[in-house]
Amino acid sequence: MTDNSAGSGEGRARARFAAFVPPERLLLGPGPSPVPESILAALGRATIGHLDPEFLRVMDEVRAMLRAVFETESEHVYCMSGTGSAGMETVMVNLVEPGTRVLVGVCGVFGGRMAEVARRAGADVTEVRGEWGRALTQDAFRMAAQGRRFDLLCVVHAETSTGVLQPLEPLRELADELGALLVADAVTSLGGVPVKMDARRLDAVYSGTQKCLSCPPGLSPLALSERAAERLRHRTRPVQSWYLDLSLIAQYWGRERAYHHTAPINMIYALHEALRLVLEEGDARFERHRRASAALAAGLEAMGLELLVPKGERLPPLTAVRVPEGVDDGAVRAALLEKHGIEIGGGLGPLKGRAWRIGLMGAGATKENVTRVLSALSELLER
Ligand SMILES: *Cc1c(COP(=O)(O)O)cnc(C)c1O
Repeated sequence: MTDNSAGSGEGRARARFAAFVPPERLLLGPGPSPVPESILAALGRATIGHLDPEFLRVMDEVRAMLRAVFETESEHVYCMSGTGSAGMETVMVNLVEPGTRVLVGVCGVFGGRMAEVARRAGADVTEVRGEWGRALTQDAFRMAAQGRRFDLLCVVHAETSTGVLQPLEPLRELADELGALLVADAVTSLGGVPVKMDARRLDAVYSGTQKCLSCPPGLSPLALSERAAERLRHRTRPVQSWYLDLSLIAQYWGRERAYHHTAPINMIYALHEALRLVLEEGDARFERHRRASAALAAGLEAMGLELLVPKGERLPPLTAVRVPEGVDDGAVRAALLEKHGIEIGGGLGPLKGRAWRIGLMGAGATKENVTRVLSALSELLER
């Protein structure tokens, strides 16, 4: 109830700031993805101390589950306090020193961000530019390397700005030739497509909670191989960022349990529940993402729309489709949101105004959601 009688200042402030109740939305954009009830419930449980033995037990379980989800035996598994970009920044500031030679694949926003973060950390960066909407080839990386040695080869596994799934095996092979560690951005792949850190010998992998893990944004799970951890131990100078210094983070997540910064306790509860659901579903989760995206692609093509990415290179959790000639991108997305409660993403960079990005991530990857977005979109396009 609103008090219009202009009473005390305090009363007016109460009237102006009602508790926020979010509208009902179906999140089918590039993230955040829909969050299941049990994960929201976990987030809402009582906060306990960040050094409480019961909380430390939850952290250990989160680490054990993250190892299973990354498919690694590595001891060096952590959770950074921050979103996916914090994981990216952590990998760069820890593995880069001034002059470190970094080869980065750039065919979308996030590859470009990796290059920028590496440059800011003082790296000598060589970009491998590719077409937006295509995967990068081993040859493209080899040509850009020009026979030089590199310390890091960085690539985005699941490029959310274009909907491309980047094959990692050929880049592992090349990284070995160049003497480089292989760094993969798995923000959109983790929980949606297999990451297989150990089988693919990835040296540094980071992710985020709000894509295929279907958790709210706020944490960045991260893992290093033994080789990458070794590189870290042999740095000649301390990591520039105190907050993101993995040698300090490791003392809290490891046996010492030394206070570094206060862990986002409730987010860790939420991630614990999200990972539990991922492991309970097992490989069927990947199959669910594949099926939902195949149904979406078929439906979009049946409507006469053109997909950005060729069939063999598509990323199941994210489908990019070209905005048809003469259609107002923003007006369609606004109507989807207002009339149908459905959020999808617009294009970024060179695709601005020219592509829609439909995410089927985590709990969002269902046939029902595909039907909902297809029927809403076809209704709007018919007008
Ligand atoms: C979303 C995303 C990021 C950035 O994550 P934030 O949580 O927005 O900081 C990085 N890389 C990829 C591939 C992403 O999709």
